[in-house]
Amino acid sequence: MVIRINDILETITEYNSDADLHLVERAYIYSAQVHDGHMRLSGEPYLLHPLNVAFILAKMKLDVESVSAGLLHDVIEDTHTTKEEIEKRFGRSIAHIVEGVTKLSKINFSDKVARQAESLRKMILAMADDIRVVLIKLADRLHNMRTLSYHKPDRQKAIAHETLDIYAPIAARLGIFWLKQELEDLAFFYCMPEEYKKIDNLVNKARDEKEAYVKEVMQRLQEKLSIEGIEADIKGRFKQHYSIYHKMLSQNLEFNQVYDLIAFRIILDKKAQCYEVMGIIHDMWKPIHYKFKDYIGVPKQNGYQSLHTTVIGPHGQRVEIQLRTKDMDEVAEAGIAAHWSYKEGAAIDEKTGKTFAWLRDLVDNQKESTDPDEFLENVRIDLYPDEIYVFTPDGEIKTLPKGATPVDFAYMIHTQVGDQCVGAKVNGKMVTLSHKLETGNSVSIITSKDHHPTPDWINFVVTVKARSKIKHWINDQEKERSISLGREMCEKLFRKKGYNFNAMLKAGELDSAAESFSFKEVDDLIAHVGFGKITPLQLFHRALPDSDKDVEQEKKGDKLSSILDKIIGKNRKRKKNNDGVIVKGHDDILVKFSKCCTPLPGDDIIGFITQGQGVTIHRKGCLNTLQMNPERKIDVQWSDNYAESYPARIRIRATDRPGFLADIATTISKNGANIINAHTDTYEFGAVRSYFTVSVSSIEQLEKVMNELRKVKHVNDVKRIVTTE
Ligand code: MN
Repeated sequence: MVIRINDILETITEYNSDADLHLVERAYIYSAQVHDGHMRLSGEPYLLHPLNVAFILAKMKLDVESVSAGLLHDVIEDTHTTKEEIEKRFGRSIAHIVEGVTKLSKINFSDKVARQAESLRKMILAMADDIRVVLIKLADRLHNMRTLSYHKPDRQKAIAHETLDIYAPIAARLGIFWLKQELEDLAFFYCMPEEYKKIDNLVNKARDEKEAYVKEVMQRLQEKLSIEGIEADIKGRFKQHYSIYHKMLSQNLEFNQVYDLIAFRIILDKKAQCYEVMGIIHDMWKPIHYKFKDYIGVPKQNGYQSLHTTVIGPHGQRVEIQLRTKDMDEVAEAGIAAHWSYKEGAAIDEKTGKTFAWLRDLVDNQKESTDPDEFLENVRIDLYPDEIYVFTPDGEIKTLPKGATPVDFAYMIHTQVGDQCVGAKVNGKMVTLSHKLETGNSVSIITSKDHHPTPDWINFVVTVKARSKIKHWINDQEKERSISLGREMCEKLFRKKGYNFNAMLKAGELDSAAESFSFKEVDDLIAHVGFGKITPLQLFHRALPDSDKDVEQEKKGDKLSSILDKIIGKNRKRKKNNDGVIVKGHDDILVKFSKCCTPLPGDDIIGFITQGQGVTIHRKGCLNTLQMNPERKIDVQWSDNYAESYPARIRIRATDRPGFLADIATTISKNGANIINAHTDTYEFGAVRSYFTVSVSSIEQLEKVMNELRKVKHVNDVKRIVTTE
């Protein structure tokens, strides 16, 4: 049937005799003008499409603004018309709706559908701040599906899949049952033509076979109800193809096992009658109790109300019956459109208000958050329910608060992406970092390794995560600057006093000074010098309380120590490790490693309880343990998670040569071990004996170090020392 504008006007008049038909006519004339010369794939004038969409909307009894917007729904997208032009001619409301439909059309779903249909549905609902936008989009899709035959097969399949995944579920969620069914069956036909044909044949066959049966059930119901004096409208119809297919598939049934092919529906005047008639039916036919559902007492979330019951009907066949009032039936068929359709007098009634609240809930409740930052954001969003949905370059949907910028987006992806973002593209076009993103945008971030956050970002980001990460970075920066300034100041002063600040720092000789100022880290102490809160001189006095004597000693110099400072200064750290041992039966007892035998992870060990000092760990067989009280002995073992380094002592016997010590020190540090202490004795004929205390993480590492040392020129012998010599 070819739809003409008069069909639309007549349909509107049927439900709203006062309607502003002139507005609809003007929309029609304008649409005809701007679409003039455009053709559909079918070869028909393009105008037929908006006419059909408007007619579907009129059939849904929507207001004249919706119908007019339906006539205009493609003009921004497909013609030179702008939103402003529409607003000038037809008012803000219609312009807003048409713009909303246009935005939805711009999202290219096809490659993103399968993975995240749910997010896309949510996005569409969130994007349409006026529910009429969604209704028009659904009507648009319905007409496109009805005329899908003109597309090529692969296009048909893609569009049909999108309809099944996105639009039919939205229709269902909005409670527009007839629309959901028609979309599903049309899509089913194109997606799975063979399956469709099979079901179609089976349904046609069943229809012939069951016609008599349907008649019988309806007749018996009718008779019984008229005896009771109840007027009722009884319908019996076959389920749609897709829902039969879906049921067969999901419950693994054969066609003839789908017993409720026919759904009987009884429409009554009053709510009380629904329960009354159900009682009568249960008296006629035995109900299957677990199949009974009272959606009148407890309506579905989308407002659907009905009583559902299944009984063993004539000839022992199962019969599914739904009972509801006329009002409930209207809602069941039209869903949200029933609330939005024209009603004399009332603009938005309480019921509609509730429906909108439900719609908002729907969008809000679909959030899942695991990340605490995200949780905070969500709390914020609950207070201001505005949020936007944007795509990553991979087509993934990200939810952001309204007003979010590319920087917020970048930090949501990853902290590093945020820290290094230099620019952004929205739908392929460069935008500024402070650009406000909108739902439906495809956002990609351009990063550069050398780039860093700048303080002005704080002024435009809106997410908690971005804000805290930027602040964190800026604080780190400031601290770093203070440390380098503080270090410079200290270096100068220490040099003046005859000390090498950096060497002392590396050797851990400032640790106690930091402790005395109650800082956890030496860096904090130096940062405070940089901030100007502590003077370098104060630090100097804390670090070297007897500095005058020290100056003398330092000048004489510990030759070895200063050589080592030069060569491997950075590795000369002192480490305190009393971790990594499990004392059986004592969780948090203090553990110390004996100095005599310096146990390493992997060594067999034994513990001795020492008064007031916890447990001291020795190697099993350490000579010193033989003198200890066996009663104090306690079982210990290495835990999986031992500290990163332990001291171990080695002795090297060699023949001296220039650069010998340097080679030894380099070899040790090259193999990842730190030198804690070193001592060298020189004998006649150039023989040397060096004793090193090194920190290593395990026996394996120690052995590696020792093996490498054995390869050093002029080294004769390398040995681990496990008892005091
Ligand atoms: Mn369209």
